[in-house]
Amino acid sequence: MDYALDYLEIRAEVRKLCTRFPGEYWRRCDRELAYPKEFVRALTEAGYLSVLIPQEYGGAELPISAAAAILEEIHHSGCNAAACHAQMYTMGTVLRHGSQDQKSRYLPGIAEGSLRLQAFGVTEPTSGTDTTALRTFARLENGHYIVNGQKIWTSRAAHSDLMLLLCRTTPLEQVEKRTDGLSVLLVDMREVPDGTLTIRPIRTMMNHATTEVFFDDMPVPRSALVGEEGRGFRYILSGMNAERILIAAECVGDAKWFIDRATAYACERRVFGRPIGQNQGIQFPIAQAYAGMRAAELVLREAVRLYDLGESPGEEANMAKMLCADASWSAAEVCVQTHGGFGFAEEYDIERKFREARLYQVAPISTNLVLSYISEHVLGMPRSY
Ligand SMILES: Cc1cc2nc3c(=O)[nH]c(=O)nc-3n(C[C@H](O)[C@H](O)[C@H](O)COP(=O)(O)OP(=O)(O)OC[C@H]3O[C@@H](n4cnc5c(N)ncnc54)[C@H](O)[C@@H]3O)c2cc1C
Repeated sequence: MDYALDYLEIRAEVRKLCTRFPGEYWRRCDRELAYPKEFVRALTEAGYLSVLIPQEYGGAELPISAAAAILEEIHHSGCNAAACHAQMYTMGTVLRHGSQDQKSRYLPGIAEGSLRLQAFGVTEPTSGTDTTALRTFARLENGHYIVNGQKIWTSRAAHSDLMLLLCRTTPLEQVEKRTDGLSVLLVDMREVPDGTLTIRPIRTMMNHATTEVFFDDMPVPRSALVGEEGRGFRYILSGMNAERILIAAECVGDAKWFIDRATAYACERRVFGRPIGQNQGIQFPIAQAYAGMRAAELVLREAVRLYDLGESPGEEANMAKMLCADASWSAAEVCVQTHGGFGFAEEYDIERKFREARLYQVAPISTNLVLSYISEHVLGMPRSY
């Protein structure tokens, strides 16, 4: 399957939609730290955020290759899907492990756009990357889980109705394996009593609508449990490949945007009486960034191909995430350098995209942790942590 050539019509339609949201729109959102709700609404109405939902629930039932194509085009167009991409990558956990009742209750609303599943609560301030050390605890009491604890970096929580929440249901000291005793709850935030859920925005270097979330005796009906109690870590892990693949697709889109911009400027900007792009010192870094992007894109294509075949491509998905994030970051650096001083001017959008691209060296998984995965699980070296 030629992933880059696939979905040509969808790609063209996504690009067309994105022309309604030019740099000025994103600059305004960035300046005001505003959620790009018009953009998210347009994507929802066009059905792009529900492509992975089965047709019986109102979605398009397309494979992950389609979702990757959509996100890549959004980013290649200079837009930013971070405001809404979680709906795509959390979907697998609900589809694969959610109950029939949860699916028929929520998926039709998500597909038609009346419900938003945008929040994914895993990271905590004290545990960080060491997910099994998380402390948010849900104790079962009279048919309800009572949740206490804190999450950090729960992006879009203030713009979502539902949150996929990973918490402990058995204390760490009482489990045989650290990965046991964690459970996933599909929390309907519209229904929790006032005062039990507090969402506080965190200001960051880019406009990302991220938050910290506090749970104070928050009751959640037992029916919100996804799959079996205590097996939540496996469910989240099984969704990670999708997350890595989709973020990698966004990074490829960003890299293409930076390379397009750098190339155009190199041809048009004249200094010393000739285009700056006539100098190899300007040409070569752009060509290098292009070659790096194409190589990363190939690895991503392989991850997508295996995922679409129903395999669990941990190696390829992790490598794609790291290589595509590196490709976008290298292209970002080259783009700023090519633009000289203008790379720093807000109106060129490059400094904004530069800030946005930096995130993917750290989230949703940092480069070190990808390398550690490859070292241990692919190359068979001893576990380092
Ligand atoms: C803008 C933003 C949005 C986010 N959105 C979400 C979200 O929606 N939901 C969510 O759950 N999380 C979210 N995150 C959290 C993100 O996934 C984490 O920031 C990331 O996984 C790294 O965790 P940490 O910040 O706790 O870093 P730490 O775990 O504290 O690590 C700090 C540094 O040390 C390195 N390190 C740690 N352990 C090792 C080791 N054993 N070997 C080598 N290096 C190591 C890491 O690579 C990192 O560079 C978001 C983060 C940001 C910044």
